[in-house]
Amino acid sequence: MKRIKIPHELQKMHEIFSEHGFSAYLVGGAVRDIVRGKTASDWDVATNATPQQVTDMFRRVIPTGIAHGTVTVHFMKREVEVTTFRTETGYSDGRHPDSVKFAATIEDDLSRRDFTMNAIAANLADGLIVDPFGGRDDIKANVIRTVGNADERFAEDGLRPIRALRFAAQLGFSIDPATLAAVPRAKEKTAGVSIERFRDEFVKMLKAPQPSLALRLMEDTGMLRLFLPELAACRGVEQADARGFHRFDVLDHLLYACDGAPARKLEVRLAALFHDAGKPAVKRTEIRERVSDRAGEPPAAETIYTFYNHETVSASITKNVVERLRFPNALTAAVCHLVKNHMFHYESSWTDAAVRRFLVRVTPQAVEDLFDLRIADVYGMTGVPPQLKNGVWSENLLELKDRIDAITAQNTALSLKDLAVNGTDLIRAGIPAGKRLGHILRELLDTVIDDPKQNDRETLLRIAVNLNG
Ligand code: ATP
Ligand code: MG
Repeated sequence: MKRIKIPHELQKMHEIFSEHGFSAYLVGGAVRDIVRGKTASDWDVATNATPQQVTDMFRRVIPTGIAHGTVTVHFMKREVEVTTFRTETGYSDGRHPDSVKFAATIEDDLSRRDFTMNAIAANLADGLIVDPFGGRDDIKANVIRTVGNADERFAEDGLRPIRALRFAAQLGFSIDPATLAAVPRAKEKTAGVSIERFRDEFVKMLKAPQPSLALRLMEDTGMLRLFLPELAACRGVEQADARGFHRFDVLDHLLYACDGAPARKLEVRLAALFHDAGKPAVKRTEIRERVSDRAGEPPAAETIYTFYNHETVSASITKNVVERLRFPNALTAAVCHLVKNHMFHYESSWTDAAVRRFLVRVTPQAVEDLFDLRIADVYGMTGVPPQLKNGVWSENLLELKDRIDAITAQNTALSLKDLAVNGTDLIRAGIPAGKRLGHILRELLDTVIDDPKQNDRETLLRIAVNLNG
């Protein structure tokens, strides 16, 4: 492949660059994806025009990263990141390149890029490819390889080793042995990268088809201990016992569970990855007597492992990790909520009131995610996608889902705002405003959850007055 087809909008963009006497190239992930036969999602363009010249050339330009020579051009309904050819010298603070030097040629610009597959450019004029480091061959061979000496490139920016592992999972590529061997050697440099830069790569790992590919590489290269020690501590914590639920130790279980969660749901992937992180702390070994089914046979001793209350400990560990990675508060709350509630055990004998209480505790918005987490958890126990198994658990879960749907359709009260009375009504009925009134409202909700027929104004007022004593 000597040239690629340049998308129509970029051809139009090129006409403007060309009228002003500049050259422009499609670069980075877009070229990599097109060479792989995939459609590129976002377009990065490199040019010899300065950010100011680009700003003058196009009508709608936003100075998104002007310090690094990047502006965002809105053009024909697309947003295109346009960066002036540059070279850079090190990221000593682990955040930003120390200095950005504009470069004269596309070849100079490509030489500062991390991996050969990312160091390919395509001229917007004719689609002709510039590939000084053999990136196309590496893409063909599905290999991730640094541009030049891996130790040197990692020493310039400690995020690059993490990016290598992320790309391995995202693209399903392998990492060239020399590049992979340099990853643990870069540990000190990598330890210095800002947590936000690490987090953004971690999120991309979690959105990969199989995050465990990157996470296992993290473990093998010592990066897991560095960034997610809580997970590293789950290695070797055995849970396969006489009851036969589990095949894997806690870490392998978590990695499989993470793979088994839907890729489009970051919060479920995170919850799956950490849902048992509390197990190492609460593990107990018990010897219990197994009563034999056969008459006359003596009882045998068997070892079982227990993890009482691990969901609570797991939720607090998850909170620490997710907060340390500076995820948004709403995401942190959603993930911890899922972890905290992952241990429900539905049985057909649950009353409708029990199903309503479950729904209130879990909240209707989180039910679907919690079910996805359960499916991931089951996948994590066997390493076999549970859809393929005709296990009881899935029919059981289906039944719970049906019952929840039926309850939702009945529109019964599940929160305070659904009650037939509110605080003002109670105050009018002579109950003083204050903490006690809050308790009474909550009791009314409990009453209605137990028996929806009670959700009528007069009944609730009568109960409230009684409760007030
Ligand atoms: P994706 O968008 O799928 O994450 P990408 O290759 O576009 O993949 P970006 O992080 O968007 O990755 O970066 C765009 C390009 O900038 C890369 O292809 C690479 O050429 C270069 N690049 C990004 N980060 C670095 C880095 N830390 N060191 C060197 N080059 C980098
Ligand atoms: Mg990109």
